[in-house]
Amino acid sequence: MYKVVIGLEVHCEVETKSKNFSGAPNEFSMIPNIHVTPVDLGLPGILPVVNAEACRKALKTAMALHCEQPDEIIFDRKNYFYPDLPKGYQITQVTKPMGRNGYLDIKLKDYEKRIYIHQLHLEEDTASLDHYSNYSLIDYNRSGIPLMEIVTEPCISSAEEAVTFLEDLRDVFLFCEVSEARSNKGQMRCDVNISLMEEGSDVLGTKVEMKNINAFNSVAAAIEYEIKRQSAILDKGEKVNKKQDALMKMVKLILCEKK
Ligand code: ADP
Ligand code: MG
Repeated sequence: MYKVVIGLEVHCEVETKSKNFSGAPNEFSMIPNIHVTPVDLGLPGILPVVNAEACRKALKTAMALHCEQPDEIIFDRKNYFYPDLPKGYQITQVTKPMGRNGYLDIKLKDYEKRIYIHQLHLEEDTASLDHYSNYSLIDYNRSGIPLMEIVTEPCISSAEEAVTFLEDLRDVFLFCEVSEARSNKGQMRCDVNISLMEEGSDVLGTKVEMKNINAFNSVAAAIEYEIKRQSAILDKGEKVNKKQDALMKMVKLILCEKK
């Protein structure tokens, strides 16, 4: 028997008039690339100015989640390349976030549980990509929208606990009036980190991360699938290897395409 270990990274768009570091409106539009300024594109000579309302709402959420309040907050640049981040860096918080060491108590059918929050930070959303058969289009409207990220400790033990936590967290967002947090609009989405460990062991297993899942029932389905997949690997005496697993999936895809 294995113990299931899950940690969630939950992203939630914050409701504000303008974006996190520019004056472009924080509004959804069916017309692509109309809510864009040089700051959102990361053009040379820009001066990002932080949105006070976004900070206030992130701090309010951190308080509601019983986080330690910071004396000062710092924004950092995280450099990475991906097509939805053409400027090559994301402004986020690494060293001094909005809150650390919080918790949210959740109620399940037969028991209650405290889910520990590692940290809550404020960052900017990326652009969005539309993929077609042999090309992709970028829409910068979403680029720079304020995004809160709530990172839990690896203390969630089942799909049911994960979904209950997400539902209760959404209630906190609504109660604090910081976001509508509609997962069907992509305003709330989550990365699921999951590993299995031998019952009785205190050594964490190798985690696998499933990114950007919107619907809560998809979170449950992904967890159930991964429990079965990782159990089968461990039952055979093999090791869960995220890089090798991803590589095998790619090889299988290429082989399928060649058939
Ligand atoms: P990374 O730097 O890869 O993002 P972190 O250590 O910051 O990893 O953790 C990201 C998320 O993964 C957190 O929610 C954390 O609780 C969770 N996590 C960390 N280790 C494990 C593990 N062994 N199994 C499951 N979840 C884990
Ligand atoms: Mg991660």
